[in-house]
Amino acid sequence: MNAYQNALKQLTTAAEIINLDKKILKKLNQPDKIAQADLSVQMDNGQEKKFLAYRVQYDNSRGPYKGGIRFHHEVNLDEVKALSLWMAIKCAVVDIPLGGAKGGVVVDPKILSQLEIEQLSRAWVRAFQNIIGPDKDIPAPDVYTNPQIMAWMADEYSKLVGQKTLGVVTGKPLDQGGSQGRDKATAKGGFYVLTEAIKQLNLKPENLTVAIQGFGNAGSVMAELLFQAGYKIIALADSKSVIYNPIGFDIDKVIEYKKQNKALQGFAGSKEISIEDFFALDVDIVIPAALENQITADNVNDIKAKIILELANGPVTPGADQILQQKGIVDIPDVLANAGGVTVSYFEWKQNLEDKYLSEEEVNQKLKEKMITAWQVVWQTAEKYKVDLRTAAFITALERIAKATK
Ligand code: GLU
Repeated sequence: MNAYQNALKQLTTAAEIINLDKKILKKLNQPDKIAQADLSVQMDNGQEKKFLAYRVQYDNSRGPYKGGIRFHHEVNLDEVKALSLWMAIKCAVVDIPLGGAKGGVVVDPKILSQLEIEQLSRAWVRAFQNIIGPDKDIPAPDVYTNPQIMAWMADEYSKLVGQKTLGVVTGKPLDQGGSQGRDKATAKGGFYVLTEAIKQLNLKPENLTVAIQGFGNAGSVMAELLFQAGYKIIALADSKSVIYNPIGFDIDKVIEYKKQNKALQGFAGSKEISIEDFFALDVDIVIPAALENQITADNVNDIKAKIILELANGPVTPGADQILQQKGIVDIPDVLANAGGVTVSYFEWKQNLEDKYLSEEEVNQKLKEKMITAWQVVWQTAEKYKVDLRTAAFITALERIAKATK
């Protein structure tokens, strides 16, 4: 099954439990709009190259469409559809007044120069200028897009409409209308939720070992936060390799090493293991923070962790979900675990519209409150319906979306 089929299966499972209104379910079985364009970019060698780009707007019953843009060579329409549905669910889980959308470009950004990436980012905005906007659809960063790209996008949009429009995208640099705390928000949100989860399970950070897959914005900041809180991080994976050290990594040193070497491979005192061995490690917490479809029916039986925290979108397939549940593993779903990013995006958007800015402490405090409330509601919903946390999160979201749609 592809990511979109997985997302629809998650939706249907929750909808059946609460007997969701058939008309609403039918509406949520497909996106509101799919937009596609061929972006033309003048490459540094003077040649013109085309890149396929998407924007999928899934549902806006609770507010303007919201969601990131991914630059990745494996981007495809079904993936963008899945990610946009998850955005709609995610925004409803943390109860922010936004809907769900997602964008993508089929490109390997690692082989593009900064100038080419800038051209591509600006071309994306020109292609979708009529369907985005601060009260219509607000993009943000996702895999391999960053604050600089958001600054180019906001600038391009502002030029097109003839006025500075900061609220058109979020995740911007601080001096370009960005919010304090946005860069670390995805990991922080996940950290707050995990803190609640281990309290609930009577566990203590200093007794817990962790393995993190993905060392981008979400994964590396999460490693830092967990390290500071006393967890022992024994395995780390980036897109090229997996490093393991049973004694635990000094994350400050790993971050420095990754910055210097652009890779984790070769970090002092570490042993290289395969990704299969990574998921089979005897560890307490596994945090997938990379791409979708990582824990599947094929490798789920190897998992020995007590807790999975999904910082990536869609890392666990529905087939694996069932087995995790049977094994009693607590899987904290993406639509809750990684919702901190879009939550602070919402704060950023609101600050831009009101032209009033919050301090980092204020942002973090508000984020913490949102995440803890969402965790409590999802946990209680899971108890009420006797379901797993993902189904509970979907139920929470669907009830809110249905109310707004009606
Ligand atoms: N790309 C992030 C996500 O998947 C953030 C989206 C946003 O801030 O709008 O949640």
